[in-house]
Amino acid sequence: LLLTELVSGMALTLKYFFSRKATLNYPYERGPLSPRFKGEHALRRYPNGEERCIACKLCEAVCPAQAITIEAEPREDGSRRTTRYDIDMTKCIYCGLCEEACPVDAIVEGPNMEFAAETHEELIYTKEKLLDNGDRWEPMLAERLRLDAPYR
Ligand code: SF4
Ligand code: SF4
Repeated sequence: LLLTELVSGMALTLKYFFSRKATLNYPYERGPLSPRFKGEHALRRYPNGEERCIACKLCEAVCPAQAITIEAEPREDGSRRTTRYDIDMTKCIYCGLCEEACPVDAIVEGPNMEFAAETHEELIYTKEKLLDNGDRWEPMLAERLRLDAPYR
């Protein structure tokens, strides 16, 4: 009986030793990410460099964690632009409601999940930081939006 159990145990070990591994050697290997993955935030611009955000404050109103703080003022042409757009990333729960509420696809959550920091201050994202994220990732962000909603 002992020998039978030993052999069956070794057979099971060998089966999993040679089968495809269920784990990844992160960060050297990465799994696929859905276009709907909710990672680090970014503020997008139009191709001409104009900020998409029209300071409607819908994202601030819908945020369940009250992580977004917006201040805005009107421009000479009658449109509105933010003078302050902060996200407290330590409050954010990555629900994606800000992204869904935005009528102009300005605030989005990208695929980056590697933005750990050591201080609270580093995780208060300013408008400049968010626009900088948007500028760096725009082609990828636009592609994710296209894949998520191809008929928009
Ligand atoms: Fe707020 Fe959710 Fe957007 Fe985070 S993802 S800023 S919690 S609405
Ligand atoms: Fe409005 Fe979008 Fe700007 Fe938020 S990011 S204030 S929802 S336009």
